[in-house]
Amino acid sequence: MDNYKTIYFFAPHAEENNEIITHLSDIFSGLGIETVQSTEEADIIASIGGDGDFLQAVRKNGFRDDCVYLGIAVDDSNYFYVDFHYREIDMLKEAFKQDDVDVRNYPALKVTINDNKPSYCLNEFTLRSSIIKTIKMDVYINDFLFEQFNGDGILAATPTGSTGYNKSLGGAVVDPLIQAMQVTELASVNNNTHRTLGTSFLLNRERPLTLLIDKNVDYYPIMSLDNEALSVRNTEKVEIGLSDKFIKTLKLKNNTFWHKAQRNFL
Ligand code: NAP
Repeated sequence: MDNYKTIYFFAPHAEENNEIITHLSDIFSGLGIETVQSTEEADIIASIGGDGDFLQAVRKNGFRDDCVYLGIAVDDSNYFYVDFHYREIDMLKEAFKQDDVDVRNYPALKVTINDNKPSYCLNEFTLRSSIIKTIKMDVYINDFLFEQFNGDGILAATPTGSTGYNKSLGGAVVDPLIQAMQVTELASVNNNTHRTLGTSFLLNRERPLTLLIDKNVDYYPIMSLDNEALSVRNTEKVEIGLSDKFIKTLKLKNNTFWHKAQRNFL
């Protein structure tokens, strides 16, 4: 663990967790890792809370990929991005001492709206109409017009995001070792006039998805990047694909994605 000298605690509920943060700070200091007050100085960014807090830690730090993220839960729930529990702090301490911690790389999605500056997400991107009408859009894979979508909207998930919203929509759970983006429909209309694939599909890094939204109706689309809403006026084109950015997280060696899937779902 010699690469890590500094840690920043990202704690959206800091007031409730003040004592815990002070205790964690002492523990890391004993491991030779000093607490810093700005994220730029941090080799480790530790989120205190659940998966939603972990997602915010990554987002608020601009999807930095030159540091590692570490999720520490303060309640008894099981999480996906959060690998450590405060109640098992001795285990974390031992793992750091024994160098028994692995770095895991999670790919982020890159989303470009109307040729603007790209944004990133770790779970998923969603696009929906905000009016009662279904939204129509042409769905391209690379430059190939694959289908014409008519329905509530479309979701594109990373492998780690596959267990979130994507799973609730009937999408598959994807092993994060598979570098793929999953595209899942939100209530598509399928009849003799409108036809879409109707099932989720996986695309690899070389096959970005482009959505061209029907200009005849103003759908005021609502878009989300993980747990944040995105408001862009006059959205016409959205390009989504796996980016070259990887978010590095620290995990215990014997705690794989499938251990977590079993703990959370079975
Ligand atoms: P939230 O609406 O407060 O919580 C949504 C739930 O999704 C929480 O239980 C959250 O876990 C869990 N979650 C987040 N990422 C996950 C993942 N990768 N695998 C499995 N579960 C995950 O929002 P939030 O906590 O800020 O999380 C945002 C995420 O919520 C979105 O990215 C989306 O995946 C998910 N979401 C799901 C639905 C749905 O299933 N119908 C609808 C909207 C959003 P924690 O309890 O650990 O925070």
